[in-house]
Amino acid sequence: SDRLKTAFLQNMSHEIRTPMNAIIGFSNLLHRNFSNIEKLEKFTEIISQRSKDLLDIINDILDIARIESGQVSLNYEKISILKLFTEIKLTFVQQKSLVRFEFDQLGILENTDIELLTDKGKIKQIFINLIGNAFKFTNEGSIRVGYILDCADSIKFYVSDSGIGISAEKFEVIFDRFMQLETGTSRQYGGTGLGLAIVKGLLEILGGKIWLESELGKGSTFYFSIPYTNIRTQKNKMETSVTNQGLDFRNRTILIVEDDAYNALYLEEILSVTEVNTLQTTMGTKAIELCNSVSIDLVLMDIRLPDITGYEATKEIKSKYPNLPIIAQTAYAASGDRQRAFDAGCNDYVSKPMSPDELLSVLTKYLI
Ligand code: ADP
Repeated sequence: SDRLKTAFLQNMSHEIRTPMNAIIGFSNLLHRNFSNIEKLEKFTEIISQRSKDLLDIINDILDIARIESGQVSLNYEKISILKLFTEIKLTFVQQKSLVRFEFDQLGILENTDIELLTDKGKIKQIFINLIGNAFKFTNEGSIRVGYILDCADSIKFYVSDSGIGISAEKFEVIFDRFMQLETGTSRQYGGTGLGLAIVKGLLEILGGKIWLESELGKGSTFYFSIPYTNIRTQKNKMETSVTNQGLDFRNRTILIVEDDAYNALYLEEILSVTEVNTLQTTMGTKAIELCNSVSIDLVLMDIRLPDITGYEATKEIKSKYPNLPIIAQTAYAASGDRQRAFDAGCNDYVSKPMSPDELLSVLTKYLI
């Protein structure tokens, strides 16, 4: 700890004095060059840029102090990943000519965007730190940013680079405050060693986590996951492949109980043409809670869920709300499944894979 503090002070002194040298130096040169517009422009640009760098360092120090004293508040809002990625992309224009900067899902997102409820400012800050590091430690190759939806109640983002890499025994320590793998006067990369500690701290506050895969000399991929409560497709109505066939479920609410994020997205997409309100959960127990607290017109119940089964959840809900229609939707193909669903109290059954028509025609029976 003492060694880290000493290294931090030396490094911090270096990081603060370096931009300060340019700021003070060029400020003093300004009055000598009042008649030389070209120089004035150049000097003021340097002063402004280095002041900004200094402010970044000060902000990092304040951020880590706020995180450690528990003074960070969250501002949740609905954000579109397409918009978020587009904004981030603009932040890093023209960084290094030998490094390609690519967003894996931007093309897909233009048709089917994902929305999530989170603190946009914090997520941007996390990305900017990770991408900033990726650029700092990559001289050629590529930096890729994207997300993976492989878990029901969280979304996983990644920032991948083909840079200098990190050896496995350092995977934990790089998240410590002030930790930099290169120390002393031989350091070729700037920085305060606070970026990853801030990222980790912010993710803890957001209920997420961060980890990495890396190999020395080959590059690094930083992953972080955050919980998400709702995702919804934002497809242009003109383009949508599903037609509403005259169905209008406005003012009705369907509870989607589904633990697979892609399937939930598929259901949302099919349902969006009917303008029905949807609620989503991945858990059977949460479905029971929602039925007790919100007015719901129909439940689409997956059977295999992470906590209790869809059969158990259905029994519980039906014992209190016998008239609430529950449609089982499952990928189990065995012949007894249909019967088990009915025995549990389900009104109907759709098996996966299901077509939009199949689903909409079953819903029509209960909502019209
Ligand atoms: P710094 O301001 O020094 O970049 P960070 O906390 O962001 O501080 O990173 C800590 C250390 O982790 C860096 O100094 C570097 O040694 C290592 N590191 C972070 N990101 C990468 C990366 N993408 N590739 C290689 N090393 C990295």
